[in-house]
Amino acid sequence: MPELPEVETIRRDLKKKILNKKIKQVLVTGKARVNLDHKGFVKVLKNRKFVNIDRVGKLLIFDIDLKNRFLLVHLKMTGQLIYTRGQQVTAGGHSDVKYNFNLPDKSTRVTFEFVDGRKLFFNDSRRFGYLRIVNATELQKVKEKFGIEPLVKNFTLENFEKILQGRKTNIKAILLNQQLIAGIGNIYADEACFDARVLPGTQVSELTSGQVLKLHRAVEKVIKKAIEERGTTFNNYRDSEGKRGNFLKFLKVYGRVGLKCKRCSGIIEKTKVAGRGTHFCSKCQK
Ligand SMILES: [Zn+2]
Repeated sequence: MPELPEVETIRRDLKKKILNKKIKQVLVTGKARVNLDHKGFVKVLKNRKFVNIDRVGKLLIFDIDLKNRFLLVHLKMTGQLIYTRGQQVTAGGHSDVKYNFNLPDKSTRVTFEFVDGRKLFFNDSRRFGYLRIVNATELQKVKEKFGIEPLVKNFTLENFEKILQGRKTNIKAILLNQQLIAGIGNIYADEACFDARVLPGTQVSELTSGQVLKLHRAVEKVIKKAIEERGTTFNNYRDSEGKRGNFLKFLKVYGRVGLKCKRCSGIIEKTKVAGRGTHFCSKCQK
């Protein structure tokens, strides 16, 4: 699933490509998850422009040049946004693709066509992702459901300690809870716990203050580095600007079960914590 770094990467990329470009047509397929009937959805967006793209957690917020209307896009498990200019492609989201970009294909749910002929495709093979048109009040309500962003000023040690206070669960469940901290998913939760040398299944009440400090630093560090490296999306693929997601090679535990720990002589193990496949080294994480 695309997490904060992957969603932030596509947000930054798309901002450079599609802002203030008139939308000539919008095509919605029968299987798309949109919150209006298809005609109503198209009517809001046709002949409009996106004037900004914002993000909260893993949710993208497209600001439309129409008073009091915003488009929310959540990629969920398999969602992708792919912008094409002939053979040139800018893509982000779920990384499982054939790299032929012969679009639209059977996973294409919504297509935006701009006046210059360039297109933005929303693909989603498993259809957990969605597009929603909302007004400012609804947007505010949605935003309020998200916890602190790991890279903003108020993600302080003090606020992190407040989040942990009195919780009767394990640290991984806290890191994954979008209402507490926004944007961290399975990959970066495991990586942050490894960086902090804390086992993901550790009960919050059993964490030492030293471990809490290390976890706080680890969350910031891992997310920051992942954004710098454009996340893990499309690691095998270079987009039209020669960029690709490089963070996969920096992953220390996620997806490395059975391999040697990059920090000690241990072997990476996998178990289930907070209902999710969880990777860790039992030798150097305590
Ligand atoms: Zn280790």
